[in-house]
This record gives sequence, C-alpha cells and structure tokens, in this order.
Amino acid sequence: MSPDQIRALVRTIPDHPRPGIMFRDVTTLLLDPAGLAAAIDQLAETVTHKPDLVAGIDARGFVVGTGLALRLGCGLLLVRKDGKLPGETIAEDYALEYGTDRLAMHVDACAPGQKVLIADDLLATGGTALAAARLVRRAGAEVAGARFLVDLPDLGGSAALRAEGIDTASLME
Ligand code: IMP
Repeated sequence: MSPDQIRALVRTIPDHPRPGIMFRDVTTLLLDPAGLAAAIDQLAETVTHKPDLVAGIDARGFVVGTGLALRLGCGLLLVRKDGKLPGETIAEDYALEYGTDRLAMHVDACAPGQKVLIADDLLATGGTALAAARLVRRAGAEVAGARFLVDLPDLGGSAALRAEGIDTASLME
C-alpha cells in the first residue's frame, strides 16, 4: 500500500475536541486491515536499531506501540495517564495542545542500559512524547527514538524531540 493510500485512510474531524481544532482521526486507518498492516510495517522499517522495549503512550499509542513491538521483537512498556497503573510509579506533567495532563510509568518498567523506543499515534507540540522521554530517562534507560503515524510539523513537536537528541520519524505529515 502506498503512503498516499495510507494517508487517505486518516480522517479529519473539524472542531474536535473544541472549535478550531482539525482532529486527525487514525481510527479509520486502524479499521482497515491492509492499511493497519502497511502502516505498522512501514513505520517499523524506519527503525534501524532494534530497541529493547517500545513505550506506547495511553491510549492510541498502545495500538501503534503493540504493533511495533511485535514487528520488532521487543517488549511493550505502557506509559499511562496518571492513576491507572497498579504498582509504584513515577509521573511527569505535560501541556497538551488543549489542556494539561500527567503521564505515569511503573518505576521498574525499564532499567539502566535499556533502549526504549517511544510510540504514539500523532505528534503535535511534542509535549506528550517529551514527558514519556523524561520518564524513560528518569528510570535510567535510553530513549532510542520516537515513532508516530502522523506528525503535524507546524506545531514543532518533531523539532522539539530532535533538539532533545531523539531520533524522530513518522509515516505522514
Ligand atoms: P502533543 O503533546 O501536543 O504532541 O500532542 C500529541 C498527543 O495528543 C498525542 O497523544 C495524540 O494522541 C494527541 N493528539 C493531539 N492532536 C491530535 C489529533 O489531531 N489527532 C489525534 N491525536 C491528537
């Protein structure tokens, strides 16, 4: 499946979650068997060095992260909205395109020396992915990169991640 065919499966919902926001909805891509497989395969092909873990960000990042982890032969680390994980956690606050939130990770989910690839559906300002990167680094592990189905480059997230030394790639802009 070509990049243009994959891109055509992402739907745009105007004025969600508030007026003026053009929400890029990947659920329509996930519904398409060939599109889902091609998206994960092509994103996995951008990963040149196999990480130890893929860190999927709550919630659509779990889908992308699981696909990449299976494809790359890695374990899956869940970075969740605060208050959801049962064990001891560390947490980081971050600003969203709309509002603020807090992400948490089990403190023992990754260890010093491990390489962790961050995964989410979409990169906007980069605040969410950078919070996930801080969690991984606080646990002593290395951020091996970050992968997204969609990048909105005008919002500066890819530049912000690269400024932090994070190898960043996405399937489409
Ligand atoms: P950022 O923190 O500004 O980079 O925003 C990215 C986070 O917000 C990701 O977890 C996305 O799932 C979510 N997000 C922001 N805008 C959109 C959108 O247009 N479509 C889907 N998810 C979005």
